[in-house]
Amino acid sequence: MPLKVANNLTELIGNTPVVLIPSLSRLTDCEIYLKCENLNPGGSIKDRAALQMVLDALEEGKLKKGMTIVEGTAGNTGIGLAIVAKAFGLGLLAVMPSDQAKEKERMIALHGGELKLVEACAFSNPNHFYHTARRIAEENPREFWWVNQFENLSNFKAHYSRTGPEIFEQMQGQLDCLVASAGTGGTIAGSSVYLKEKIPNIKVFLVDPEGSGMCSYIHTGKFEKTGSSLTEGIGIMRLVANFQKAKIDDAFTLSDQDVVMISQYVRDQDGIVLGSSSALNVAGALKVAVCHGPKKRILTFNCDLGERSYSKLYNSDYLKTRHLDITLTDVQPLIAKYSEDQKPKIAKPTQPTPSYH
Ligand code: PMP
Repeated sequence: MPLKVANNLTELIGNTPVVLIPSLSRLTDCEIYLKCENLNPGGSIKDRAALQMVLDALEEGKLKKGMTIVEGTAGNTGIGLAIVAKAFGLGLLAVMPSDQAKEKERMIALHGGELKLVEACAFSNPNHFYHTARRIAEENPREFWWVNQFENLSNFKAHYSRTGPEIFEQMQGQLDCLVASAGTGGTIAGSSVYLKEKIPNIKVFLVDPEGSGMCSYIHTGKFEKTGSSLTEGIGIMRLVANFQKAKIDDAFTLSDQDVVMISQYVRDQDGIVLGSSSALNVAGALKVAVCHGPKKRILTFNCDLGERSYSKLYNSDYLKTRHLDITLTDVQPLIAKYSEDQKPKIAKPTQPTPSYH
């Protein structure tokens, strides 16, 4: 395709490349691919949703010139919205919990967005970043338009109309498994619905961090969690409209220790520096390769720039505070653990086994 000139930054959103992860593909005799969403202009997959949500709101007349976009965000949606807002002559107010990586706060400010930091708290607390953003728009509806990425189905549309078709084209229709973590669920929902229409046999897996209830929801219909995670922007404890649309065959939870291990391995072997949610995705893809391989073509997402995880995932002092071991660099025990998970558990006999002697 001839190289073209873009008229503004939003035209560079999407059409991201796909790359093989050579090391893990060799080890599993599968092909494990990464869709490089880190190469979007805002450095994350959320640029796609930001653009679609703003375009639809402008078209529907909910958002007008001179207004300010307001959104609660773990950071990446805020960066995407800041870029899109600038391109359309709009303002942005991003409401963020104060415990997220400072890297993302800085990028929102550099792109001209205004930041409001609130204390990290439970969703039931009215000061939660989600409720704070909503309240700002409710109190001043002429000035602010609230994006609501969790319930706004333009988010789903971004991935159904573009991410899914891109994957189908890049993989030339040959894909066995899609693996993704979820925040709003926009990515996994839009991509899974599109790809299942095109490749009915494709299997879709949700990989969930500890501290999230999505995996339990898929298995039991209830949001239950154990532990917590250093990953950012993924995991949730309630059912939201975007996630509800996802077509998921199976779900599993992986630990932060797996995230740390796989991020180091892929960095050392392949030179790919993953952010924390992307490292979880890649660990998930490895597990799917081990359990469903060999000879499977598996794709997952490189969701954002590795730099955004510098102060947590790549900071040994921080990892120590979470009791994570950075000396575990051999991937074979992880592969052994994943293949063990797959074996059917031997049911305990309910009756004592009779003895004949
Ligand atoms: N990874 C990162 C780093 C993110 O910021 C997000 C979204 N917050 C996701 C993954 C998940 O994307 P989605 O909202 O489409 O589920």
